[in-house]
Amino acid sequence: MTKIFILYTGGTIGMVHDAHNNALMPFNFGAILDQVPELRRFGFEIDAHSFSPLLDSSNITPAVWVEMARIIEKKYDQYDGFVILHGTDTMAYTASALSFMFENLGKPVIMTGSQLPIGEIRTDAKENLITAIELAASLEPVVNEVCILFDFQLYRGNRATKFNSIKFEAFRSVNYPVLAEAGVEIRYHEHAILPKIHKPFRVNTKLNEEVGLLKLYPGIPQAMIDAVLQTTGLKALVLETFGAGNASTNPDFIESLRKAIQKGMLILDVTQCLGGRVELGRYQTSVQLQSIGVVSGEDITTEAALAKLMYLLGQDLTDAELKQQLAVSLRGEISV
Ligand code: ASP
Repeated sequence: MTKIFILYTGGTIGMVHDAHNNALMPFNFGAILDQVPELRRFGFEIDAHSFSPLLDSSNITPAVWVEMARIIEKKYDQYDGFVILHGTDTMAYTASALSFMFENLGKPVIMTGSQLPIGEIRTDAKENLITAIELAASLEPVVNEVCILFDFQLYRGNRATKFNSIKFEAFRSVNYPVLAEAGVEIRYHEHAILPKIHKPFRVNTKLNEEVGLLKLYPGIPQAMIDAVLQTTGLKALVLETFGAGNASTNPDFIESLRKAIQKGMLILDVTQCLGGRVELGRYQTSVQLQSIGVVSGEDITTEAALAKLMYLLGQDLTDAELKQQLAVSLRGEISV
């Protein structure tokens, strides 16, 4: 019998109406088959574990990613597939982080949540949950990736981004095609799914959180740039630039970046655009960034850039190794 493990971390999805006063309250996923009887028709064995306390995903931290990864690691051999229920707000960050922490993943890890609680009449929760379980149970093909299933679309987790807070279509993956679409039948785009790696699965929980994020905008005060660059302990910075990786050519700005790089900080250039990629040197406004040693983030999302840097900085790499790993796709996070 196919065995599925559900890890319920919190978020909007897990709310039902209290039978006494009709108020929305967290749903006991231990009793999931009673609450969502449709799931019995799959004929799968479904076990669930709930976080206590349940978390709004705005409160999720790298320590919680480690906790999730360890739970999946313990259950890995006993189950065919995994579903993680998570708030949508930071789901793309968690999906990215787990994608790097799970080395040689050979089973589906499908994250989902919902925009309306499972107890609401017009909820999207049941559909998302049912489809996530079906995808996690698929043996042909096996989606051996950390994914986000939302509104009938299966996204590679480290390519997705939350782009809408009120529509059921809450996620987008602009730079990479969906892995599957659920319509009358589930249509897998097998060419887009990562090939299976025939090596033992391992969970790598060594993360280094000394990573910053700075979004550029016209008129950004130099003092703010310096304050970020001089943050104590900061080892790497994701710099959200304009268009194809462009930034101001103001000499003070370039000099601040140059000094930070000279002192050992890694600066990763990621575009503010939802789609497209960084192309250092294409415009005059990125030539100096390239010459002072800013590294191209290619077409990575900000969420995946932060997670990849936390993961790589945790691995005691030399500067050259770190740059080499940033330039290649480790889990399908960039197109090279
Ligand atoms: N604030 C909620 C969360 O991210 C929203 C949601 O679940 O969609 O936990």
